Amino acid sequence: MSETSGSVAERFEQLYGAAPDGVWAAPGRVNLIGEHTDYNDGFVMPFALPHTAVAGVSRRDDGVLRLHSADVSGPVVELTVDALAPESDKRWTAYPAGVVWALREAGHAVTGADIHLASTVPAGAGLSSSAALEVVVALALNDLFGLALRGWQLARLCQRAENVYVGAPVGIMDQTASACCEPGHALFLDTRDLSQRQIPFDLAAEGMRLLVVDTRVKHSHSEGEYGKRRAGCEKGAALLGVDALRDVPFGELDAALKRLGDEEEVRRLVRHVVTEDARVERVVRLLESGDTRAIGPVLVEGHASLRDDFRVSCPELDLVVDTAVAAGALGARMTGGGFGGSAIVLAEEADVAAVTKAVEEAFAAAGFKTPRVFEAVPSAGARRVR
Ligand code: ADP
Ligand code: MG
Repeated sequence: MSETSGSVAERFEQLYGAAPDGVWAAPGRVNLIGEHTDYNDGFVMPFALPHTAVAGVSRRDDGVLRLHSADVSGPVVELTVDALAPESDKRWTAYPAGVVWALREAGHAVTGADIHLASTVPAGAGLSSSAALEVVVALALNDLFGLALRGWQLARLCQRAENVYVGAPVGIMDQTASACCEPGHALFLDTRDLSQRQIPFDLAAEGMRLLVVDTRVKHSHSEGEYGKRRAGCEKGAALLGVDALRDVPFGELDAALKRLGDEEEVRRLVRHVVTEDARVERVVRLLESGDTRAIGPVLVEGHASLRDDFRVSCPELDLVVDTAVAAGALGARMTGGGFGGSAIVLAEEADVAAVTKAVEEAFAAAGFKTPRVFEAVPSAGARRVR
């Protein structure tokens, strides 16, 4: 599922006249559980996909940055590292250029590069093609310029690139997942202090499969709704006198809801975030005690909370979850921000074909676009491949 490093190196040589100094790969991700918790200082639990962005990169010392993507038509884009400025670029090149900008702004002497990349992470499906792009470039520059930054530090710089240079208000999950995940594991990440733990999640070894169902829809109001949810969570934290909703313990949820009185909208948001953090902790306990199948109902509960309390689901995502569970899946839920994008389905290996068929038939019957269904094997984080 990854671009071959050989074909990327070959194309690099055609474009720039010499072989690259090296080739690096960084994956997309799906979030197993912990949705809309990252901007509340809470817990998330992503794992890396086998799909990766692959980059051939050579170091330059003359201040020139040259960028090319196999997935976007057009010639090599040439920039000057000194002239990089936030929100000046509306093209795809803002992601890699933003990483160079963020590294330089943090005081790292990155003096230019030639970059060619190709990605198998579907763009805009909620699987974090943007973080894969950022992290692969950050890791390559880290190695080529001897920066000795750790994965979580690269993730922070990539987040800064996307927040400030690209201008997208994203949390820290995607970049950390792409930089730090390990094969056969999910990453339990505390988004407050970035402490992390690798949690065993080797489904194949236990006779299970995890499917990603990309609904191939993105409802247009998603960005405005995201902003409203964020603002509502901040209001909830302020009303409860805490820094972030993460600070409301699950055991004190009822009391907190009482204190919010008739703020019905805020109460729902608070209930989702606090119960979702608790669900992440439950999933961690279940996986660490080897009770993998028991996470199924927790995923379904998480979906109901996102649908009914946080209100970020949509008919397509609900249909995936309802159909998959009715067809015998162990559990399912929407993943990512919502209003479209992808859902995940956990199923016994023997049930995968029937569950997939049921979802495809239900989509056809509802008149929805044909969904893209693929298996997600928990895979490696960013690494040098050549
Ligand atoms: P997601 O991260 O969920 O896939 P985003 O909107 O955050 O969606 O990022 C998608 C953007 O990332 C694309 O519009 C494009 O600018 C950039 N991108 C992703 N993959 C590639 C690629 N292979 N080549 C060039 N740009 C890419
Ligand atoms: Mg993204």
